[in-house]
Amino acid sequence: MPPFAEARVDLGAISENIAALRRHAPSSQVMGVVKADGYGHGMLPAARAMLAGGATWLGTAFVEEALELRRAGIASRAVAWILPPGAPLVEAVDADIDLGVSALWLVEGIATAAHEAGRPARVHLKVDTGLSRGGVVTDAWPAVVEAAARAEAAGLIRVAGVFSHFACSDEPGHPSIGAQLNAFHEALEVAEKAGLRPEVRHLANSAATLTLPESHFDLVRPGIASYGLSPIPDLTGTGLRPAMTLRSTIALVKRVPEGSGVSYGHRYVTDRATTLALVPLGYGDGVPRAATNTAPVFVAGRRRTIAGTVCMDQFVLDLGDDGEVETNKVEAGDYAVLFGAGDGGEPTAQDWAAALDTIPYEIVTRISPRVPRVHV
Ligand code: PLP
Repeated sequence: MPPFAEARVDLGAISENIAALRRHAPSSQVMGVVKADGYGHGMLPAARAMLAGGATWLGTAFVEEALELRRAGIASRAVAWILPPGAPLVEAVDADIDLGVSALWLVEGIATAAHEAGRPARVHLKVDTGLSRGGVVTDAWPAVVEAAARAEAAGLIRVAGVFSHFACSDEPGHPSIGAQLNAFHEALEVAEKAGLRPEVRHLANSAATLTLPESHFDLVRPGIASYGLSPIPDLTGTGLRPAMTLRSTIALVKRVPEGSGVSYGHRYVTDRATTLALVPLGYGDGVPRAATNTAPVFVAGRRRTIAGTVCMDQFVLDLGDDGEVETNKVEAGDYAVLFGAGDGGEPTAQDWAAALDTIPYEIVTRISPRVPRVHV
């Protein structure tokens, strides 16, 4: 299929974003988070760009993702932190992948895997400081720490890290932030008293890396900010640049009369004779159907709002009419930019998220494999 549509990924921007994040957390190492295909940007190129920018760790949700890094020859420290029953633990230990531990049974399972692999497993104990998602709840924390200390003494595991994750760090000043910080300090004390000496203590995601120096510890784990998007509304002063541009050539331009119902359901009706442009990207490509009559698209130097229902493979723009000189010049083959870095006037993924009442994470990760990633 010709690449009429593409998600261009500026790898230099990813490297520079990591460098900028290092300046926000100058005393900490940086883990680039590359789960979910590098937040839709392409995991392997994104990972390499992050390492080039100074990241020394990579983070994935699943072991399978970290194994893909290894198969591609990426040898940096890598941590996978969601380990459902059946996760390939022996392969992970063999491949020198660090494993996040959120339950006592995982300490036991990983110790068994290490025995089978014939080498100690590197683990990061995860404490639930208030997100109530992954992690060991504080009541169960001492037992998990003791079990890990025993497995370490037996030479089966090495506790390389202790970590946790914020619930509301994107809302600076939220009372849960201080509570989670305190709980993390207490959990670290319990681990220390049990004789554990982790190489890295880590807590900060993107928002905390940007706004909360006391959460930086030995390592920060920015995901979305590495890609130049922000969990906080304003990127000004962060030094971040969005890496992905989603664009498509226009497939068709045509004139329609006033009163024309546009796309399924006629949710848009032209209020004058006008020019429509067909953009061959739809919800089959990850453009949310909720973008119907809502999301901005940049054509010929102007932002337009999608006109009518987003279909599986296409949507329509109303380019307007008389007197709009640029509009009349638009032809099939010209580019429509859905989102990009924003510096040329085009919307950003942040703008799309705001228009669709979602977060930029969802906008970029949902772009489907049908859209080629072009790394520049
Ligand atoms: N650390 C953990 C454990 C995560 O699950 C995630 C993402 O959800 C991140 C770090 C990165 O978060 P963000 O993309 O908000 O920086």
